[in-house]
Amino acid sequence: MVTFPSTEIRAVVFDLDNTLLRSTIGARCGLQEAAKLISSQLKKKGLIYSESNLFRRLQWIDQEMLGRKFLYNRDVWWKTLLKELGVGTRFPWIHQATLRYWDAYAANGPPFQDAEWTLRALRRLGLRIGLVSDSDGTPGMKRKRIRLVRFHRLFEAMVVAGEDTSRVKPGRENFRLIAKRLHVEPRSCVYVADNPRTDITGAKAVGMISIIVKRRHNGGGNPSYRIPRLSALPSLLRSMQQDRK
Ligand SMILES: [Mg+2]
Repeated sequence: MVTFPSTEIRAVVFDLDNTLLRSTIGARCGLQEAAKLISSQLKKKGLIYSESNLFRRLQWIDQEMLGRKFLYNRDVWWKTLLKELGVGTRFPWIHQATLRYWDAYAANGPPFQDAEWTLRALRRLGLRIGLVSDSDGTPGMKRKRIRLVRFHRLFEAMVVAGEDTSRVKPGRENFRLIAKRLHVEPRSCVYVADNPRTDITGAKAVGMISIIVKRRHNGGGNPSYRIPRLSALPSLLRSMQQDRK
């Protein structure tokens, strides 16, 4: 059942990856780069593993870490792979693989076409714009990636969950903190995101309205609203405000 807000909407808070950015492409490129580096490092030790073999194994680890274990530190991903391969434990280059991964990720995950237009349209409606995004597992990396987004100055406040706070999403403290940083009540905020599992619970727990943007494979959950694309947001928010009156 759709429930209309009892208070005026004053702020729109966004998730970053797969909501504003096409991060699935970036993630794939990141894994390919990591597989390439790991393959060449193992080759130096006389251990032959093809890039495509390592890439397939890393795709599996990616799903496990992001979907089930919620471990975002990529160093841990590569160590998990090397442990599975049983090729020893000393890898002084491990963090280099993480840096290459994020470089490729950031370079290949552009914004969705309607992202900037939508943010600007919301600003014109007088709404404040915020961001709540999980830590990338390497402190400072998420903020670095955010600064690479060409319209990052449109965010008036942001929270990197797990760095600005002690827990990643759905930890509710992240949603309380962004409302505080935007100088609004949580119940005057909507949270716009793509993941019905990790993005909805925390936002709802503090009284935010949750909106899921339909992407591939993101059904389920119980958001307040679902929209087919970001550009549907301004008119949805306008109609929500009108229904309040
Ligand atoms: Mg996301």
